Amino acid sequence: SVLAEADYKPERLLPILRAVQAQYLHIPQAAIEQLAAALHIPRTQIIAVAEFYSFLHLTPQGRYDIHISDSITDRMLGKEKLLNYLAEKLRVKVGEVRADGLVSLNNTSCTGMCDQGPAGLVNGYALTRLDHARIDVIAKLIEQQAPLSDWPPEFFAVEEPIRKPGLLLNQPFENGAAITATFARGLTETLAEVDSSNLRGRGGAGFKTALKWRTCAQQTTTPHYVICNADEGEPGTFKDRMLLDLYADQVFEGMTLCAAIIGSVQGLLYLRAEYLFLYEQLQRVLKRRRDSGLLGRNILGHSGFDFDIEIRMGAGAYICGEASAQIESLEGKPGIPRVKPPNSVICGYQRKPTVVDNVETFFAATHIAVQGGPWFAEVGTAQSTGSKLLSISGDCARPGIYEYPFGTSIEEILRDCGADDVLGVQVGGPSGTFISNRELQRRIAFEDLSTAGSFMVFNNSRSIFDIVQNFTDFFAHESCGFCTPCRVGTTLLKNQLRKIIEGNGAAVDLEELNEICLVVKNNSHCGLGDSAANPILSTLASHPELYLKQLKQSNFTPGFDLDATLAVARRMAQRDDDAAHLSQVEN
Ligand code: SF4
Repeated sequence: SVLAEADYKPERLLPILRAVQAQYLHIPQAAIEQLAAALHIPRTQIIAVAEFYSFLHLTPQGRYDIHISDSITDRMLGKEKLLNYLAEKLRVKVGEVRADGLVSLNNTSCTGMCDQGPAGLVNGYALTRLDHARIDVIAKLIEQQAPLSDWPPEFFAVEEPIRKPGLLLNQPFENGAAITATFARGLTETLAEVDSSNLRGRGGAGFKTALKWRTCAQQTTTPHYVICNADEGEPGTFKDRMLLDLYADQVFEGMTLCAAIIGSVQGLLYLRAEYLFLYEQLQRVLKRRRDSGLLGRNILGHSGFDFDIEIRMGAGAYICGEASAQIESLEGKPGIPRVKPPNSVICGYQRKPTVVDNVETFFAATHIAVQGGPWFAEVGTAQSTGSKLLSISGDCARPGIYEYPFGTSIEEILRDCGADDVLGVQVGGPSGTFISNRELQRRIAFEDLSTAGSFMVFNNSRSIFDIVQNFTDFFAHESCGFCTPCRVGTTLLKNQLRKIIEGNGAAVDLEELNEICLVVKNNSHCGLGDSAANPILSTLASHPELYLKQLKQSNFTPGFDLDATLAVARRMAQRDDDAAHLSQVEN
């Protein structure tokens, strides 16, 4: 009853489940039965989807469902103390729903507000700059059962601090200019401009954009799809948030010119659940563009050029930033990365040729269509042309968005953002690289430090282990569970690292940690597993002395108490004699 009949399509399962949950605070059994019948899919598929996504629940959540971001930068801003304070004020345990059903409280992965944390979500809406005073007010409002519309608007304020605009952010733009330029020049010629710009995907992988678009355009199977990947889930990244907040027209225009080139009539923008606050305003931008003839039929009078864009929300799964996982999610399934080949450009959404590109890639393509390829290629390095948007957070005076030509050194960036006494920088988020203060001359570029945009600064008051542990926990939490090396390996990494950090590790444990890292890295199915060991491997390389210092002198210390673990077995066997116990022999 919460949805119009037109919405009853299997690929719309995620938005349907979101709507059901918004009404019933969970996905009731009765809704599962009804949806299975209406969508003609097994109920197990619906349950699998509900269990896969962090923000979907099969049991009721609180009427105020609060999640607090567990990003390392939020932790550095005192998140743990605030979370405990909130739990105390609301009389609810973390991870639980209060007995009266009024409120539930949980941790969540980074919410994309690292420049204005500590941050969280209430019923999906972003909360920023949390402190004790705000928490006092929030607790009172919840007890009064005040609707969110009555909460102080500043609690939900998301700022977009552009500290250093560059090539693209400074570029003047008129709506429709890129579509007009594309048709004036010709579609093939515009693709040639994208080619000569050497634009590479801004999501981190750096695949050449023109090659992707050309391959898709050449596919004879129809229809073709354009997907904008706005599932900006890498902790420390928030530049796509800013682009969608302030430059949405230019992102949609990039999708539109891509559609013209590859011959697509349907675009999808996959928006991460944490950016729910952007949903309504993006819908308004789309409506305005339809009303202005920039979307819809015969766009800007070009007969036969029809294209429209639909926004679909995610539901809390980092893995859905991976293109094929995102396509699965858009098809109403758990976001499990597909086996490749074929790549999505040949067999993507609904098994049809699909271009999936990052928000920043479409934004750059818009300006390339207007200004031409050489204009873009003049900036940056030969292999990494143009500029890169960085989301800077952590220990610096001026966190926010910065745009740099590729090839800029870490040293220069740290100067600009006001970072002193630097211990290191995590470039590219947890899946990226930790750069120690001895390597600050390294550069942002695909040939040196490739990044989707996360740039987290740590000063010498920070512990490297706090950072690595947070990242390793993140990967263990976000592993989709499809393949064993990652599903089991990320948990083994988490436990083994904890053992060493807590001072219970011996030399053999460090060796084992290294071995597990390599197993996870070399045997996992997708990029998450491939990079899950990076935080450990890069800090082991840059600061081996820290790990060595943590080791106990003995050769072996068990990671857990085996004898205590066997207590259940002893109870079942009704034995408690000496022979039923294990004792550890110290060397
Ligand atoms: Fe899923 Fe991890 Fe395997 Fe990727 S590597 S498919 S995230 S289990």
